[in-house]
Amino acid sequence: SVFAYVSVYVMVKVFQAADATDLVTELRRSFDDGVTRGYEWRVTQLKKLLLICDNHEPEIVSALHDDLGKPELESSVYEVALLRNSINLAVKQLKDWMAPDKVAKTSLTTFPASAEIVYEPLGVVLVISAWNYPFLLSIDPVIGAISAGNAVVLKPSELAPASSSLLAKLLEQYLDSSAVRVVEGAVTETTLLLEQKWDKIFYTGSSRIGRIIMMAAAKHLTPVVLELGGKSPVVIDSDTNLKITAKRIIAGKWGCNNGQACISPDYILTTKEFSPKVIDALKQELEAFYGKNPMESKDMSRIVNSNHFDRLSKMLEEKEVSDKIVYGGQKNRDKLKIAPTILVDVPLDSQIMSEEIFGPLLPIITLNNLEECFDVIRSRPKPLAAYLFTQNQKLKERFALTVSAGGIVVNDIAVHLAVPTLPFGGVGESGMGSYHGKFSFDAFSHKKAVLYKSFIGDAAIRYPPYSTGKLRL
Ligand code: NAD
Repeated sequence: SVFAYVSVYVMVKVFQAADATDLVTELRRSFDDGVTRGYEWRVTQLKKLLLICDNHEPEIVSALHDDLGKPELESSVYEVALLRNSINLAVKQLKDWMAPDKVAKTSLTTFPASAEIVYEPLGVVLVISAWNYPFLLSIDPVIGAISAGNAVVLKPSELAPASSSLLAKLLEQYLDSSAVRVVEGAVTETTLLLEQKWDKIFYTGSSRIGRIIMMAAAKHLTPVVLELGGKSPVVIDSDTNLKITAKRIIAGKWGCNNGQACISPDYILTTKEFSPKVIDALKQELEAFYGKNPMESKDMSRIVNSNHFDRLSKMLEEKEVSDKIVYGGQKNRDKLKIAPTILVDVPLDSQIMSEEIFGPLLPIITLNNLEECFDVIRSRPKPLAAYLFTQNQKLKERFALTVSAGGIVVNDIAVHLAVPTLPFGGVGESGMGSYHGKFSFDAFSHKKAVLYKSFIGDAAIRYPPYSTGKLRL
């Protein structure tokens, strides 16, 4: 009705260019006033984030169910528990992180002096996050930004609307709104935000949009962290524990948001000879996990929306791909469900082998030997993660040293993400910069070189008039 239209129009205030400017001005004022600099403020905000996890887990789980049909266990473990760990670590380590690093030796030319590295907050930073792990990927970078003493604006993904609005509500309710803000919205709102001058932009999403972010940042010479994606390969050697290999691959693929995860196995590489055993093991464990009719399973997320469903369907329907399905292939557009699907030896130039899959489809490419498998990875854009299953020590080392990827895991999938002493981030096409643990603090800090000199030892040699005599000294 007209009334409904008018009331919606009145209620929803459109975010405009002036709002973006005002927002940054306001946050910069807080930053300049020193609101965010002190240890107390930082630790208080971090503890508030912990309270959000403690007090609102059921709402978070329910929002994730609305947006993605995410099973409760996956939400509790991969979003809330990981966040709790991240916050607890920051709270525990913050004093250490903030303390300047004494530099042991100064050079002869500066003697006597002392030197240190001071961790300085950058200022006002922007975090733009993705829809697949909307809480983790929004709050985890914010933990880094706050720990390092910055004012921060978070822009969650519009593709997970229930999570986005819950994030906006909770952060407003719990955190200091003079320095931490959430702006909800899509391309229009993000574009307006990107026109502002930020001191850092931390972006999680596709490589395509990553380029747009970097171009906007370049205008203001703003540094960026780009957490992008790519096709993360899994190499399987015949010298492996195949049952555990299959279980871990399934857990890392369909058990992580139904393949809609940035470090999800995108495709498998193995030898022609070993591939029938790999396929059998995957089929067997898939059935043990999800039953004979996985379309009915409650233990798997759905596809996020119909655009992504259609994108995945198109990959499956391509000529020379659809007839390579050896398991699964069922789809239901109304329910946005696609069954776990395994394909064997699809063409290397097909869409499914050219683009990041980001869904429940898993091609297996078979080759003559493992070196050929490594070569396939080397010949393609550098992935965010690369995996190898083997018991062969030499092979493990060769993989770790000669295959480039954001991160490498031997004999498991995705678990490096939960090790806070490891940096998490991409290389080449999969991104730049990294975070997690102390690396998050570093990502939002300037390492300021500080040298304290004394007036003692003022050598005449450095001052004019210059003479050859002085040079010979
Ligand atoms: P998305 O569509 O949610 O986009 C990410 C963000 O970019 C959103 O906040 C969105 O509003 C914004 N955006 C979209 N179009 C824009 C534009 N034209 N200008 C400015 N901003 C724009 O998410 P997505 O890109 O579909 O996410 C999936 C991708 O993200 C995959 O490639 C995946 O591998 C990657 N990813 C990476 C990580 C990581 O940690 N490295 C984590 C999750 C996802």
